[in-house]
Amino acid sequence: MKIGFHVSIAGSIDKAVDKAVAEDYNIFQIFTRNPRVWRVTPLNPLEVEKFRKKVKRYGIHPLFAHMPYLPNLASSRDSVYSRSMESLTIELERCIKLGIPYLVTHLGSHLGAGKAFGRRRIIGAINDSFSKIKGEVILCLENTAGTRNSMGSSFEDIKKVVDGIIYSDRIGVCFDTCHAFAAGYDLRTEQAVNTVIEKFEEVLGWERLKVVHLNGSKGELNGHKDRHEHIGLGKIGMDGFRNILHSRFREIPLILETPLDEEKQNLENLKKVRELMR
Ligand code: ZN
Ligand code: MN
Ligand code: MN
Repeated sequence: MKIGFHVSIAGSIDKAVDKAVAEDYNIFQIFTRNPRVWRVTPLNPLEVEKFRKKVKRYGIHPLFAHMPYLPNLASSRDSVYSRSMESLTIELERCIKLGIPYLVTHLGSHLGAGKAFGRRRIIGAINDSFSKIKGEVILCLENTAGTRNSMGSSFEDIKKVVDGIIYSDRIGVCFDTCHAFAAGYDLRTEQAVNTVIEKFEEVLGWERLKVVHLNGSKGELNGHKDRHEHIGLGKIGMDGFRNILHSRFREIPLILETPLDEEKQNLENLKKVRELMR
């Protein structure tokens, strides 16, 4: 099974590999840079080489990168939109340099301009980026919690975006369990999990699913709150995760974005997942 965490690149990008190896998981996700600012420092070629060497040595595959927080691919503000488009191109290029095959992105917020407007923006940004880059990287569209004006909280909404993209073979989907639950997809019982899987398959096609973000949810079903919780705690519950981990989702690379707090750290969540999978 492929399982790992979102890990920090503090110090140097290759430190992420050390962390994964030390904590005993076989895949991971990173931000390739500080996600809280617009400014991008170019990749240091020596760091890139170290990163690639370590990834190869430990056989870590597949790797995931996540888009930074500030870009909004659906923004109705022209200046933010053009910066966001540029950020997407830059991140795709950084993934190619680092040998990371998948970049995960949220679809952004239309800020009140409406879903159809937001969708045109997202499709425009993605088509523009792929027309500029050379490389094999796949962009994974992540389902969102459905907070106000946010795009992509339902499989149908994601599908409408996918349908507008010329480079369809470059598009994957990331299924976040916390976001899905918050957006109204129940995952607590075996039947509920199977219904979600069938729906995903019917609307998007199972082969689009490249990664699962395995996160508990502090918020209620359909509560539209993007608040991650530890595995088995929160509203999805222990049975929910047992059911998720005994479904077809277990065959997909699992990335945990669980909190780091006094209650639990990565190792405890990893242990819990392994236990629930048995
Ligand atoms: Zn995300
Ligand atoms: Mn996520
Ligand atoms: Mn989230």
